[in-house]
Amino acid sequence: MSYCKAVIASCMVASGTPLATAAHAQAPAFVEPAQLVLRGGAVFTADAETPAATAVAVRAGRIVYVGDDAGVDQFVGSDTRTLEIGDGLMLPGFHDSHVHIAAGGLGLAACDLSGDETVEAVTNHIAACARDNPSAAWVRGRGWQLGVFPDARPTRQQLDAVVPDRPAFFMSADGHTGWANSRALALAEVTATTPDPQGGRIERDAAREPTGTLRDAAAMLVARHAPAPSNAEIKAAIVRSIALANSFGITSVHDANVAEALLAPYLELDRENALHARVTIAAQVDATLPDVAAVPAELARIERLREQYRGTRLKITAAKLGADGALEAQTAALLEPYVGGADNGPTFMKPDVFEAMLVALDRAGVQAHVHSIGDRAARMSLDAVAAARAANPNGPMHQLAHLQLVHPADIARFEPLRVAANIQGLWAYRDEETIELVEPKIGPERAARLYPLGSMMRAGATLVGGSDWSVTSMNPLAAIEVAVTRRGARQPAGPAWLPQEVVTLDAMLLAYTINGARLQLHEDEVGSIAVGKAADLVVLNRNLRAIPAVDINTARVRYTFVDGVEVYAARPSAP
Ligand SMILES: [Zn+2]
Repeated sequence: MSYCKAVIASCMVASGTPLATAAHAQAPAFVEPAQLVLRGGAVFTADAETPAATAVAVRAGRIVYVGDDAGVDQFVGSDTRTLEIGDGLMLPGFHDSHVHIAAGGLGLAACDLSGDETVEAVTNHIAACARDNPSAAWVRGRGWQLGVFPDARPTRQQLDAVVPDRPAFFMSADGHTGWANSRALALAEVTATTPDPQGGRIERDAAREPTGTLRDAAAMLVARHAPAPSNAEIKAAIVRSIALANSFGITSVHDANVAEALLAPYLELDRENALHARVTIAAQVDATLPDVAAVPAELARIERLREQYRGTRLKITAAKLGADGALEAQTAALLEPYVGGADNGPTFMKPDVFEAMLVALDRAGVQAHVHSIGDRAARMSLDAVAAARAANPNGPMHQLAHLQLVHPADIARFEPLRVAANIQGLWAYRDEETIELVEPKIGPERAARLYPLGSMMRAGATLVGGSDWSVTSMNPLAAIEVAVTRRGARQPAGPAWLPQEVVTLDAMLLAYTINGARLQLHEDEVGSIAVGKAADLVVLNRNLRAIPAVDINTARVRYTFVDGVEVYAARPSAP
């Protein structure tokens, strides 16, 4: 059912005047002019009631017309801005359902190593960052690639060589491994006798001394000692990240793991009308909860945050739970052991605490947003949701993010359990990391099931799209291309990797629009191009549905609108 059919009364209140309906409805005698008319090209509405259109009119930030070019003429007045879609494509603004807006922006403001492809490049870059910030108490940054270092193990000695005098700490690009120098380890009192924390591993040398590589929860042992960023730095990071999102046509973001300290800056920006995207938040759940008895207090904290940090474009819809780590670091939880390893990988939280927390969140109406990489993590998460459904059949939709491995027996559980598959399409090809760090650790049988996007689509799972930026690029078009081709955007054309897992273009477009809106609980407001909805729109310079799939990533955003206000426009010189 389209939005306005359902709630026509509030549509009329929102715009102040009765709305025109579809193209073929009777035209009223007088139509108030629109502020904005987009016309003359393809429109992907994501609305089953009006699947095809060539024109849209916007008034007071709301869509007042969707239909053909002849019908939109009546909305054009002397002050109306009219844009031609031409050979491009207009869509609802994209939803990025898993992105690290605040933390990613902060990390990149520090020392961004994501472009450094050798050990020497990384260490030279860190030396330069240290030189440029002589008064900083710590030298910090993120983004180093696991594949740059043998066995994904950088050493404290490598870091000591360029930062001998101050603590230095750098998170990897995937956010799962920390790298500390000797000063930072000493300050955090991480020594040969420090036990591995739940959900983490301190890599050690033959004498059990920490090598400087800290997996998952172990990284927090050091990171928590680093000085906190100021409110102003956090706000600047959020604004920068959202501007980047707007440049990719993104109008709604789900910040996937937000610590409490980052919420006040978000609310300040919302009150200053400076959030140029709708922001939903997954509040970070304390992964160190010792036992089930600690769950009620943690739930009360999350509920307090939901009340306290609610704004016009800001709301906490979810809470972030970590089920496991990463395959590359052998911290993903598997059903069967790693190749050549004795263990199956740890779970990030204790399984009983994880389930109790998820059930408690569900009962309170809070979505669980679960980081799930390995097949045991997925099963543990689905089992926890099943327990929640048994206790409370009408609880909210939940979501599992990443889903690198899902056991075939679990794929059909997503749809009936109302668990969305939050997928990172950009990851679904056979890159160097997959070949060198993943396949040898999981063996050929499991490697032939990596990223089961097509299987989940066929099983009826709700797919939503996320970038996991700043882990990987925020550009939805690159992610869409990889998901439909199973080839890297920079790889030459060729056969799809695991072709049964290809997804359709329309499935990806829906994942990034209406499905994201549904999951982020503003489906009535955005996510499709329908009369009465807010005018969150993106105009591309190419029609994705009329070009070869391998060209999708070459399309560029021409305009992005939020509530009918332009938040991004390509420079005129852009193609
Ligand atoms: Zn993430």
